[in-house]
Amino acid sequence: MKKIAVLGAGLTGATVAATLIQKGYQVTVFDKGRAAGGRMSSKRTEQGYLDMGAQYFTARSDSFKQQVKLWLDDGQVEIWSCSTALLSLAEGLSSLKTSEDEQARYIGVPSMQSPVKALLQGVPLINGCRIQQLDYQQQSWTLFSDNGLSYTGFDAVLLTLPPAQVQQLVVQSRLPELFDCADELLEPCWAVALHTDARPAQDAIFCQHPKLRFISHQQHKTGRKSCYILHFNTAFSALYLHEAEQFWFAQATAILRQELHIHQEITPLLAHRWLYASQNEQVAAPGLIALPNLKLWAGGDWSYGGRVENAYLAGLNLANAVIEQDKSQQDTP
Ligand SMILES: Cc1cc2nc3c(=O)[nH]c(=O)nc-3n(C[C@H](O)[C@H](O)[C@H](O)COP(=O)(O)OP(=O)(O)OC[C@H]3O[C@@H](n4cnc5c(N)ncnc54)[C@H](O)[C@@H]3O)c2cc1C
Repeated sequence: MKKIAVLGAGLTGATVAATLIQKGYQVTVFDKGRAAGGRMSSKRTEQGYLDMGAQYFTARSDSFKQQVKLWLDDGQVEIWSCSTALLSLAEGLSSLKTSEDEQARYIGVPSMQSPVKALLQGVPLINGCRIQQLDYQQQSWTLFSDNGLSYTGFDAVLLTLPPAQVQQLVVQSRLPELFDCADELLEPCWAVALHTDARPAQDAIFCQHPKLRFISHQQHKTGRKSCYILHFNTAFSALYLHEAEQFWFAQATAILRQELHIHQEITPLLAHRWLYASQNEQVAAPGLIALPNLKLWAGGDWSYGGRVENAYLAGLNLANAVIEQDKSQQDTP
């Protein structure tokens, strides 16, 4: 296998593409978005970025710690020095004890997608290109995009998309049974950014709340606009999934007033709906989906339980799967 198509330019796609290029493969990455980053994307504004997806990430495995160190040394990532708190209905806002909160939290600088972009430097990337059909004929893959273009001659295809989108692209009968729950693996989240002159005592507030799961303030994040970002929890996001932005601005404003007692003016900035945001913990993570006879693999954060670190590990494992498959073919007499 020499020519590889990677679908998705999130952290999984960027990691697998960078790893395979280092090993001498010819890789092209396709993404429907306008830029690389996926769920690690921040929205650019004149006053700085808004982190509408992942707010930060942690590193537990040795391989991801090593990668994060490289990013730190190169200035693509910094430690988010944030003070944390817990918001619960029973106790209101309470500070987290240091012993409960020893985790180093990392952010991309100046935006969350900076490390993804760094991995993709020099990698051919076709943006604004939603692949809507795949065709495998005579050991060669052709990709068809929704703007009528086709890309042909790939020996292998790696899908690093949310699982429901993998399901749409790959004929159902070819996917293992484990993948039956693909639709339920990732759950939705509405994210809302609001500006107010009030500065919080805490930057990161974990919520045990009927509507919310996380509130962050960007005041201590390099490159960001100073504002609040609220992430609504799965149940509330799913219940009002199709409501317009105005509904979400009103909800977020009311929460800042009631729960954080903000009396100053609050200006809505942006609301974004993520259909596939974070892992459903009730569904077992399926690992990588491997169809080696077709030279097709699929994986992402969802393969191992969600989160940025698992996206990186999925990218490494996808690259290894391709390399191992090549080795086994070379060894076959
Ligand atoms: C609101 C929110 C908060 C989060 N908070 C955290 C957090 O605090 N900590 C943490 O560790 N993680 C967090 N996450 C999860 C984290 O962002 C993800 O685990 C990680 O970014 C997933 O990377 P990925 O490459 O696997 O997938 P993605 O980033 O989803 O990449 C998939 C890419 O595929 C592209 N694509 C989809 N369909 C097609 C198609 N048909 N053709 C071409 N391209 C296509 C998409 O545009 C996207 O760029 C959060 C996510 C969200 C949404």
